[in-house]
Amino acid sequence: MKSLAEHEGTMTNGGIDVANSNGNESNLPGATDVDVVVVGAGFAGLYLLHRLRGLGMSAQCFETAAGVGGTWYWNRYPGARCDVESIDYSYSFDAELDEEWRWSERYATQPEILSYLEHVAGRFDLLQDIRFSTRVEAATWDDEQSLWRLRTDVGEDVACRHYVMATGCLSQPKTSEIEGHGRFGGEIYFTSRWPHEGVDFSGKRVGVIGTGSSAIQSIPVIAKQSKELTVFQRTPNFSIPARNGPDTAEKRAAADRDRAAYREQARRSRAGVPVEVAESGAMMVSEEERNERFEKAWSVGGLFATIGAFNDMLVNLTSNETLAEFIRDKIRGIVKDPVTAEALCPTNHPFGTKRPCLDDNYYDTYNQPHVKLVDLLKDPIQTITETGIDTAAVSHTFFTIVFATGFDAMTGAIVSVDITGRKGLRLADKWAEGPKTYLGLTTVGFPNFFAITGPGSPSVLSNMAVSIEQHVDWVCDLLGDLCKRGVDTIEPTEMAEAGWVQHVNDYADITLYPRANSWYMGANVPGKARVFLPYVGGVGNYRAICEEVVEKDYLGFTLDGEGQRQCNDGIIRRLQPDVAIMLGVMASMDLPPLESLSVGEARAFIAETQKQRAPGPDVGEIVDGQFPGATRDLDYRLYRPASPGPHPIVAYFHGGGWVLGGAASDDPLCRDLCVQSDAIIISMDYRHAPEERFPAAPDDGYAAVQWIADRAESLGGVPGQLAVTGWSAGANVAAVVCQTSRDSQGPAIAGQVLLTPVTDATKALSSKAENAEGYVLTSTLMDWFWDHYADPIDRANPKASPLRAADLSELPPALVVTCEFDPLRDEGAAYADALTAAGVDVEHLSARGQIHTSIPAVDMLRSGAYARQAMATALKQFFATSVSV
Ligand SMILES: Cc1cc2nc3c(=O)[nH]c(=O)nc-3n(C[C@H](O)[C@H](O)[C@H](O)COP(=O)(O)OP(=O)(O)OC[C@H]3O[C@@H](n4cnc5c(N)ncnc54)[C@H](O)[C@@H]3O)c2cc1C
Repeated sequence: MKSLAEHEGTMTNGGIDVANSNGNESNLPGATDVDVVVVGAGFAGLYLLHRLRGLGMSAQCFETAAGVGGTWYWNRYPGARCDVESIDYSYSFDAELDEEWRWSERYATQPEILSYLEHVAGRFDLLQDIRFSTRVEAATWDDEQSLWRLRTDVGEDVACRHYVMATGCLSQPKTSEIEGHGRFGGEIYFTSRWPHEGVDFSGKRVGVIGTGSSAIQSIPVIAKQSKELTVFQRTPNFSIPARNGPDTAEKRAAADRDRAAYREQARRSRAGVPVEVAESGAMMVSEEERNERFEKAWSVGGLFATIGAFNDMLVNLTSNETLAEFIRDKIRGIVKDPVTAEALCPTNHPFGTKRPCLDDNYYDTYNQPHVKLVDLLKDPIQTITETGIDTAAVSHTFFTIVFATGFDAMTGAIVSVDITGRKGLRLADKWAEGPKTYLGLTTVGFPNFFAITGPGSPSVLSNMAVSIEQHVDWVCDLLGDLCKRGVDTIEPTEMAEAGWVQHVNDYADITLYPRANSWYMGANVPGKARVFLPYVGGVGNYRAICEEVVEKDYLGFTLDGEGQRQCNDGIIRRLQPDVAIMLGVMASMDLPPLESLSVGEARAFIAETQKQRAPGPDVGEIVDGQFPGATRDLDYRLYRPASPGPHPIVAYFHGGGWVLGGAASDDPLCRDLCVQSDAIIISMDYRHAPEERFPAAPDDGYAAVQWIADRAESLGGVPGQLAVTGWSAGANVAAVVCQTSRDSQGPAIAGQVLLTPVTDATKALSSKAENAEGYVLTSTLMDWFWDHYADPIDRANPKASPLRAADLSELPPALVVTCEFDPLRDEGAAYADALTAAGVDVEHLSARGQIHTSIPAVDMLRSGAYARQAMATALKQFFATSVSV
């Protein structure tokens, strides 16, 4: 076997002879040169070649660089290291390789990682299938032949059945947008294209542009050599001490105890690293305990100890800010000059929403007298000159300028190849508004095309060695299977792709990530679409999704081959991610179904679970009192806004199937509505079944609005400005109250907001069967409620089933909110339709991916926030258009 150096020495860019480069015949039909072309020979490309060979498929890899390694070939800047511990950031596919390779440090240097990848290439005899110093420039899908035609920069044409981009997420350096770039007469270096012979900074005046990961790693090393070092910082980044050192025996022993189990734990973990997951949020412990945990994480060093100190760092801004401030205090403690310290403190993004960096004495470097920081927010760069860099205030002279300006991440390397799919569709055009993929691996219009760690997969939010292995295994297992089944092409469906893009966005939206102008968002590249690129759902969860797609016989893919066509269309994840997580937690608790309990037990259970929920926002004032119901006094709870009154009043009716709950049971939702609508919310109790059955609840509901209308002023309200709202059975009460008020000539109701209302007991609408189980409110639980509440004969009464009212005209304007995964969904939708048909002004909000109980979960399920906001907005609109008396 040739050594890498020998191989590089004998490399040619001559004609291709690849059809049998691995000695195997192609297994797939068509006039192809090879079965598979792999672009890129980094971590991903190397493992792909190995797996494809195992499948007996012919493969050719093209690589721009003159050697293997990808990231670790190009990024040779001083101080370059991995930021995931090497024991984890390495291949796991071969137990012997895993056993034989020993890392010398906790975070290996670039040369060590490169020599590891060279070792892998040699050990598995992969070099013969790689064409180095050859860039793939264009790829076009030939629809007639069902194959890809690729062209390289040395003019070779290659035809292949499958085309896999293993081109890396961080391999396309960002071009400089600084004016004057190119005029500088001194030395210029890019961290991402560092010269192999290294750079000697001794005695030189050096400028470094950028303070991202590469800059933070290289600055302390460059500072040691240079005469003067000036760092130009646009945005400060959070950096954590790496606490690098020899690979710890302790960690190695833990991993070696059961290496296979250790690796499997990583595969099923959140970030591809087997770490303990904290069980509490940062605000659930005392300040003292919080700081203790942060101190411990700081002393241990590394990304995962810090971000994992609590379980809500990336979803709860208040929690996140406690860590951000802890780190800022550390910076202030290390950097002696207070102005420099403050400039280094990140304040424009939550911790972790830009990739945090790991460093070795980065902040302390600024205490050296020859190291200066230029804060570009205060003194921006005007131009690069022949001799240096001019900022608004100063002309800096340098011998050397280092650009550490990052990458066109995740999509840059892919769209820099001119890829044309079916019907002349260019990938760059398709992705102009942001990448659209199914699973981050495939994209509609581009059959047999795969992107390893592509946009929409966990990729850069994970230990990429683990993510790469998972993608490569998934693609290769699929290719092997398609080959056996005689399938020529595979392509995702429009529906599957749209569903995945939605799911990726939904996940990002429940986190803090979109709050940063980061490269995760494409924000570092001028003109690039602002879309959150990676999948935040976690490595283990993502792997399970990919496995499920296959188990469901390639859900969301069209397979085509000799005489057979299969399209198993569908969307793999429809529930909102936070709702799905909550359901998962509930399922793991193995709770008894409510309907299996006695009413007393069910009430006690609900009261207990309500103690665990988030409280909701603060309001101006809460007053508890009693009002005369239809037959006896009942409780109410009044929520008054903090703003000066008087305010309009909203009568709120709680959920609980007419059996459970009370005036205070929907406290967080009432607080939220109060704050967002700036109205007084009065949660009015009503008599409950089975003690007091139908029509006790609607009778009390009507008594409640009469009582409020009669004394609106003394309650702090605006007379005549009264609306009603309710959730579930409470929305049923609210709807009936509107009908009763209309028929009894008052009081005037300005509008009704009905959240997942019960509207008709008599109809078996399809949502009742579709969502019968698995979404908290089950169809059997709904039957249990009805059995307690009303005799079958009464259920058709419009006071129990308002949809059955003979006349729905002249009712107050309405917002009806229904949830996709709710047995009651179609009842709510039918009521909205019927109101509209009767001439009532109705808005119907159909909440995608939500369940019956998720919208009221204020501060717990962020995905429902927009629906709560819509409810508050509707209330405001009702009052804006109603006439006060
Ligand atoms: C400085 C740095 C440090 C990092 N540290 C970590 C870490 O600690 N942990 C971690 O998980 N991840 C880290 N990453 C991310 C890192 O990129 C991945 O971990 C991993 O190395 C990616 O492997 P890859 O094979 O997918 O892509 P790459 O290693 O990027 O390889 C892609 C290859 O494709 C080639 N290529 C691209 N386009 C073409 C074309 N058109 N024709 C031919 N060849 C082409 C490129 O030349 C490149 O060699 C780091 C990235 C950088 C830049």
